Amino acid sequence: MEELREQMLAEQAERIARLQMRNEIRMAGLVIWGVLLLGWLIVWFIKLMRDIRRSEAMCSGEISFTCETCGHSFCVPADYLVRHPFMFRKSVYKGNGMTGRTVRQSGRLFCPSCQKKTWCRQDMEESARIGMSGFGEALRKDGLRFLAGAVVLLAAGGIFFTVLNIVF
Ligand SMILES: [Zn+2]
Repeated sequence: MEELREQMLAEQAERIARLQMRNEIRMAGLVIWGVLLLGWLIVWFIKLMRDIRRSEAMCSGEISFTCETCGHSFCVPADYLVRHPFMFRKSVYKGNGMTGRTVRQSGRLFCPSCQKKTWCRQDMEESARIGMSGFGEALRKDGLRFLAGAVVLLAAGGIFFTVLNIVF
């Protein structure tokens, strides 16, 4: 009688240890999986940004600027703005947070009429339009790739956790 009780206790202890191990492996798996998903998202985002920069719309698009000193209007290739992201800028932002938008933006550019660097106002509608079509182009190129990667990661995670449940 005593022997039987001891055997049952030993079995119970073994089962608990096994469950604990499964939980630990599952936790580690979740962490690694999360890191992989996040990593994939970051890599993809960087790729998307690069493709927006290289898109047809960005490379061939032109944005018009108006000199704030003399009122002369001239065009600057969108590509130039992409290559000079740290140009001096001043902007007027309306609304707050995500719902707001930049209503007016000026940058320090060389005005062909004044023959010097002055504040020149950017055409925001044109900029937004070029940005959106560049984004659309890049998304058409990278959208499927993102889905493929996500599906592979989701499937790998699904298989891992299923196998874990079967083994333990
Ligand atoms: Zn000017």
